[in-house]
Amino acid sequence: AILYRVDGWGAPYFTINSNGNVSVRPHGITTLPHQEIDLLKVVKKASDPKTSGGLGLQLPLVVRFPDVLKNRLESLQSSFNFAIQSQGYNSHYQGVYPVKCNQDRYVVEDIVKFGSGFRFGLEAGSKPELLLAMSCLCNGSPDALLVCNGFKDVEYISLALVARKLHLNTVIVLEQEEELDIVIDVSKKLGVRPVIGLRAKLRTKHSGHFGTTSGEKGKFGLTTVQILNVVKKLKQLEMLDCLQLLHFHIGSQIPSTCLLADGVGEAAQIYCELVRLGADMKVIDIGGGLGIDYDGSKSKDSDVSVAYSIEEYASAVVQAVRFVCDRKGVKHPVLCSESGRAIVSHHSILVFEAVSASSYSSPQLPSLGLQYFLEQLADDALADYQNLSAAAIRGEYDTCLLYAEQLKQRCVEQFKEGSLGMEQLAAVDGLCELVSKAIGVSDHVRTYHVNLSVFTSIPDFWGIGQLFPIIPIHKLDEKPGVRGILSDLTCDSDGKINKFIGGESSLPLHELEGNGGVNGDGGSYYLGMFLGGAYEEALGSLHNLFGGPSVVSVSQSDGPHSFAVTRAMPGPSCGDVLRVMQHEPELMFQSLKHRIEEIADIGDGISSIALANGIACSFNNMPYLAAASSCGFTAAT
Ligand code: PLP
Repeated sequence: AILYRVDGWGAPYFTINSNGNVSVRPHGITTLPHQEIDLLKVVKKASDPKTSGGLGLQLPLVVRFPDVLKNRLESLQSSFNFAIQSQGYNSHYQGVYPVKCNQDRYVVEDIVKFGSGFRFGLEAGSKPELLLAMSCLCNGSPDALLVCNGFKDVEYISLALVARKLHLNTVIVLEQEEELDIVIDVSKKLGVRPVIGLRAKLRTKHSGHFGTTSGEKGKFGLTTVQILNVVKKLKQLEMLDCLQLLHFHIGSQIPSTCLLADGVGEAAQIYCELVRLGADMKVIDIGGGLGIDYDGSKSKDSDVSVAYSIEEYASAVVQAVRFVCDRKGVKHPVLCSESGRAIVSHHSILVFEAVSASSYSSPQLPSLGLQYFLEQLADDALADYQNLSAAAIRGEYDTCLLYAEQLKQRCVEQFKEGSLGMEQLAAVDGLCELVSKAIGVSDHVRTYHVNLSVFTSIPDFWGIGQLFPIIPIHKLDEKPGVRGILSDLTCDSDGKINKFIGGESSLPLHELEGNGGVNGDGGSYYLGMFLGGAYEEALGSLHNLFGGPSVVSVSQSDGPHSFAVTRAMPGPSCGDVLRVMQHEPELMFQSLKHRIEEIADIGDGISSIALANGIACSFNNMPYLAAASSCGFTAAT
C-alpha cells in the first residue's frame, strides 16, 4: 500500500486486503469489513468463460460501483449541510451534476435517483446533454435544478423553455450576450416565462492547467459591461424578475480553498450588485472545480492534487458567500455547485491485463571471439576500446562510460558504411550494456504490453499529461521485482504510459508468470487505473479502431464479502467500431464471403464455410487481444 500510495489517493474507498488484492469499500468509511469487495474476484467473475461460471466478458473492463457514487453525493451534500448549519447560513445547498463528466445512462440515472431526496439536479452543456437531462429529471425531485450552460442556438433555447413548460426547474444561463435576444424572442413565441441565469467572467484566476477558463480573458461568460447590458435590457422589457441565478466557473481542480474563497467572494459581490439593480436573485452557482487528490500528496502546487477535503471546500464556500451577503444586507442565496469530477471519479475502475513484457537478458559479448571482433574495428574505434580498457583498470568509471558510448557511435557509423557485420554491432551493444551494468547505471526498466488503448481509455494522459493512480490489483503481498512502463496496443508511439503519480517514470511491477495472460500459458496480471470515472469515457477516441471497454456494475449482496454483478455490457465489437466510420459490416462480410466462394479451390486445412464463420466471428468480437478460444477460425475448424 505504501509503495503505491493507496492510502493517500484511495481512502476511504480502496484498500489492500489480506490476500494481497485491492478491496473496494463501496460505502466509504461506513463500510463494514465484511462488506468489502475483492476486485480480483469481480474481474474473474466478469471475464471467466460462461462455462466456468463467469460472464465471458473481454477485457479491458470498467467496473462501476453505484454505491460509491451514492456515497460521493451524500458526502458532498452532508458537507454543505454541516457548513450551513454550523455557520448559521440561512438557505440551503442543492447541487447539480454536470453530465459532461460522464454521460453514461446508468451513471446519470443513478445520480438523479440517489440525489432526489436532496433536490440534486443536472447541468447540460449541449443539446444532446439537455435532452438526456430533461428525460432523466422527469424521475427526479421537482425542485431539482436543470442548469443549461454552453453555447446556445434557437433549438437549444427552445428545448430549455419547453423543459420549463414540462415543470422542470430549468435555468438558461447566458454564456454570451447575444443569447438573451433569442431567449426573449423564443419565450414569447412559446408563451413561457424564462428563468435566466448569467455566467460571469471573474477576475479571479487559477493558475493551474484547468485555470485557462477563468480570468478576464477566459473563454466563457459575460464581462462586467455585458452583465450591465443584460440587466438594462431585461429591465426595459420588464423581465428583470426572470434573472435569478449567477453562475461562474473558476476551472476544474481548484488547488486551494484560498483561491476558492477569493473567487466565490468576488462572485458574491456581483450577486449582491444584481440584487441592488433589481434582479430577483435566488441562486449562486459556483460551477465545478472541487478537486481530486490523484496522487495522494494533498498538495496545492500540482494539477493532480488538491490541498483540501470536501468538508473544507463546503465550509470555504459558505463562509465566503455569507460574509459578503451579510455585509451588504442581502438574503443568503441558495448555494449550487456543478461538481463533476468529485462525484464520479471514484466510482469506476478500469481493469486491464499485461500480456507480455520486454525481456531482459543479461548482457554478454557474443561468442565470436574478442580477437576477431577487434580485428574488424577501424583505428579510431579500436583506440576507444583500448582507452575503455585502460580506464576500467584505473577504476575511472565515468571515463569508461564515455569511451563505451563513443565506441558504440563509431561502430554504428562503420555498420552504416558497410564495414562492420551485424555480429560485431551486437557485440558492441553487449559490451556497452556490460559496462553500464558494472558501473551500476544500467537502465533495466521493462516495457509491459497492456491490452488497452490509452487513446480510448485514458485520453487525458495522452492529451494533457493527466496522471491517474495505476497499480496491480493483486499480488500486493509480494514485493514487485521489476520496474516497467506500459505500452498499449495502438500502432502509435504516444500510446504508452511512462509517467506515474509521485513523479515516477516507471512503475514497480511483478514478473509475469510464464508467457503472461490472454494467449500466453502463464497467469494473468491485472492492473487497475483508478479515479478515472470523470471525463475519460466521453473523451476517448477510436484511434486504431479500438472501442470502449466492457462494463460491469457491481453492488454488495447478502453474505460476507459477496457481491452481485447488476449490469454487464460487452464493449463495442469490431463491427460496431467499423460502423462508426461509415463502414457497413454486413456488406463487408458479404463481399468477403463472395470472394471466398469465387476462389473455388481454397486449399487444404480449412473449409470455405469455416473461413466465412471465422470472419463473421471477428466482426462480432471486440478489437482487443482475446484468448485463442474466442477466435472463430479455431472454433470452426
Ligand atoms: N461546470 C462547468 C461550466 C465546467 O466547465 C465544468 C468543467 O470544467 C464543470 C462544471 C465540472 O467541473 P469539475 O469536474 O471540476 O467539477
